[in-house]
Amino acid sequence: MPNYDAHVLSGIVSYPLAVFLAFALRDHLGVPFVLSTTAMLVGYALYVLGADLPDMDHPNALIHRGTKPIVAVATGSAVFVRALGSVNLGSESLNVTAAWGMAVLAAVIAWYGFTAIMPKHRGIVHSLLFAAMYGVLSYALVKYGLGMATGGALFVGFAAFCGYTLHLILDGAVSLV
Ligand SMILES: [Zn+2]
Repeated sequence: MPNYDAHVLSGIVSYPLAVFLAFALRDHLGVPFVLSTTAMLVGYALYVLGADLPDMDHPNALIHRGTKPIVAVATGSAVFVRALGSVNLGSESLNVTAAWGMAVLAAVIAWYGFTAIMPKHRGIVHSLLFAAMYGVLSYALVKYGLGMATGGALFVGFAAFCGYTLHLILDGAVSLV
C-alpha cells in the first residue's frame, strides 16, 4: 500500500500524461478542453491534491489530520458569525466572549465529528464515484468561484478526476462505488 510520499510524488511526476491525454481527447474525440496556462496550473494543483485526497478516509493519514483543523476552525468561525448577533448579555466583552464560547463548542464537535462520520478506509471514498464528484466540484469551483471559461474549467475538472483516479490505481482499488 503506497504511502503519502508515493501518492503525492506519483501525482507530481505523472501530470504530463494527463495533459497529453486531454490533448488526445480534444483532438480525436472533440472534447472541448481549453488547455490555457492558467487552466493547466490550477489543474496541476488539483491533480496532485487528488493523488492523495482519497486517504482522507484514514484517521492516521496526513491528509486526514491536516484537514481536520481546517474543518474545525471553519465550523467554529461560521458559528461565531451567527452567534455574535444573537447573544445579548449586556456588554460587548460578554457578548463576544460568549459567541466564541459557542464557536469553540462547535469546533470541538466538528473535530471529533470529522473522524467519526468518515466512511471506512478504502470504502466509498476510494471509488470512481468520488473521483467523478471531485472532478465536478473542481469544475464548479474554477468556473463559478474563479470565473474561468467553460473549456478551461472542463480541463481542470478532468485533471482533478485523473489525479484522484491515479490514487485508486496505485492502491489497486479501482471500484465504481
Ligand atoms: Zn488510498
